[in-house]
Amino acid sequence: MPIEQEQHYYRRRIELLSRAVQETHNAVIITDRQGLIEYVNPAFTTITGYTAIEALGHTPGSLLKSGQQDIAFYQTIWETILAGKTWRGTLTNRKKSGELYVAHESISPIHDDNGFITNFVAVQQDVTDQQKAQQRLHQAEKLEAIGQLAGGVAHDFNNLLTPILGHTELLTRTLASDGRAMHHLMEIQRAAKRAATLTKQLLTFTRRGDTLEEPLDLNRILTDMLPLLTHTIGEHIELQFLPGEAIGTVKGEAAQLETAILNLVLNAKDAMPNGGCLTLKTETVVAGQSEIEIPAGTLPGPHVRLRISDTGHGMTPDVQARIFEPFFTTKDKHKGTGLGLPMVHRVVTIMGGFLKVISEPGKGTTFDLYFPQITPDTKVSDRPVTEEPLELCIGHETLLLVEDDDQIRALALCILQECGYHVLEAKDGETAIAVANRHDEMIHLVITDIMLPKLNGPQLAQALRQRRPTIKVLYVSGVADSSFTQYAKPLNPIAYLPKPYTPSDLARRVRLLLDQPSYQPS
Ligand code: ADP
Ligand code: MG
Repeated sequence: MPIEQEQHYYRRRIELLSRAVQETHNAVIITDRQGLIEYVNPAFTTITGYTAIEALGHTPGSLLKSGQQDIAFYQTIWETILAGKTWRGTLTNRKKSGELYVAHESISPIHDDNGFITNFVAVQQDVTDQQKAQQRLHQAEKLEAIGQLAGGVAHDFNNLLTPILGHTELLTRTLASDGRAMHHLMEIQRAAKRAATLTKQLLTFTRRGDTLEEPLDLNRILTDMLPLLTHTIGEHIELQFLPGEAIGTVKGEAAQLETAILNLVLNAKDAMPNGGCLTLKTETVVAGQSEIEIPAGTLPGPHVRLRISDTGHGMTPDVQARIFEPFFTTKDKHKGTGLGLPMVHRVVTIMGGFLKVISEPGKGTTFDLYFPQITPDTKVSDRPVTEEPLELCIGHETLLLVEDDDQIRALALCILQECGYHVLEAKDGETAIAVANRHDEMIHLVITDIMLPKLNGPQLAQALRQRRPTIKVLYVSGVADSSFTQYAKPLNPIAYLPKPYTPSDLARRVRLLLDQPSYQPS
């Protein structure tokens, strides 16, 4: 190669190498043998905030020191690279702004023609965002696992509470109503009912997907929640409930709305570590008029407003701008998930409503939740069963009872037989089919658990309907409703009885279903 051409070739190569280093997104740092910085590329400035002039002459260790690594850590690096090897690892460094960042880094020696180390080159990749995303994923997985665990525990609990509540109720019928024993019994019943409420709360954590909409009376929901809320916020916070008069009903799923309220109350509690006052207020308002603007996509008209105000530390505009972002939290790692308000937002939106936040640092926070009012009167039909006097819930039809929990099956059998029914029983779906096949007469109703070993409830119903197309079905379940809707949709709310149920619940529901003339199989 002619010398000129050769020179041109090398110049081109050096230029290319230089541009590559200038334009890469990883920070490149070249130091001398003592570790003093001789060169940094533009990405270094982007990541750390230090310009080349500011960085020259310093060691990376002193410039970016975060205090997160000890001396021994840096010694290992030196030993490795002075031995002519490349060091690779992850470091936490501090930017010029003081902010920390996490970097994957490699440091290699640069040798001259004689094999002598003249310099070192370090390449840093900022992986802070990646690491945060990973932590969030981990957090989400953790929540998922907690949800599953909660669901499992709640299911077992509902199975245990059914016989407790059931036998208690049966006992109340045989005891004298004014005796001491009755008093103890009522206390047992009260405690069991509280446990049932808690279990229901627990189950809302496992909810996802479809909702079961029904008319809700916000005042009643809040009244029912008050004991739980008072217990949750603790004694240092005063709880005030100001129910509006004749607020009518809104539409939604009670359990979801309860979880949303609980989340808001928990946030208020966290905002008042030194005590304060929490106010829950309901009232009807007309949204869409000058005072209450409504967001696009929502219909103007009568709304029920739930106002949750605290006298806590409030929020800065910056925080307020981000509160509905999933995983946004200002609480420390073990306390906040950043999922509370996104959940609240979702529930309110699903219910056709909207929400507004008023907050100022030091002045407390108010969350206003607006729900479209669906009926102006508060008659709530969220109990599909009218409370028939129990004496009328008798009958002589034939029922097939399928339940894998022996204690619950025995209880249900006892209740139904007491009502006068002829009851066939089975422990699982397959046995149920065998029992039905052996029975030549009519079976009017099958009462089945949704989750059963081998054949689940809806599958059993389907199998039974092949030979008995008009057989009615009552599903019983101790798990969240979502598992039900997953199997059977659309559902007839009357054909579903959640556990724990009381003997009267069961007797009433059975009678109601048997008396329904046209029953659409679900
Ligand atoms: P988390 O409670 O897990 O942090 P949230 O989504 O419930 O997640 O809330 C997000 C953030 O919104 C909180 O970390 C907090 O900074 C702020 N926040 C929510 N409610 C209040 C409140 N009542 N007062 C002050 N700040 C609040
Ligand atoms: Mg929260």
